[in-house]
Amino acid sequence: MAPFDDLGFRLFAGIVTGLILGSFATMLSYRLPRAISIVWPRSHCPVCKTRLQPRDLFPLASFAAQRGKCRFCGTFIGWRYPVIEASLALASVAAFVLFSLTFWLLLALTLIITFVTAITIWLEHRNARRDERRT
Ligand SMILES: [Zn+2]
Repeated sequence: MAPFDDLGFRLFAGIVTGLILGSFATMLSYRLPRAISIVWPRSHCPVCKTRLQPRDLFPLASFAAQRGKCRFCGTFIGWRYPVIEASLALASVAAFVLFSLTFWLLLALTLIITFVTAITIWLEHRNARRDERRT
């Protein structure tokens, strides 16, 4: 039996892939609107600029371990990270279960990450405009 026939394997692969893509989506949604390269510099805290270590980059786990704060300056990094990571993990699990290892899975994952990144950028842009009007 191929591993992809097993539902447990698909759930596991879906969660792992979703968390990695979720982490990627938070990076994209932060850097694209600011015209920052998505390759360089390495991930850092936007406030104190400290470069993040591998242990700071585990989706959800790092957020939980540090209670959502930067390990170096204590700034709250915001709910967008765990929310994006968790929603991408869920969507990815659904895609793995529905499509197994097919072309449709790749298409679904591409659409999911595009959609989540676009929504995040739009929400952030809208909130920024709302804050501007208040001041
Ligand atoms: Zn910091």
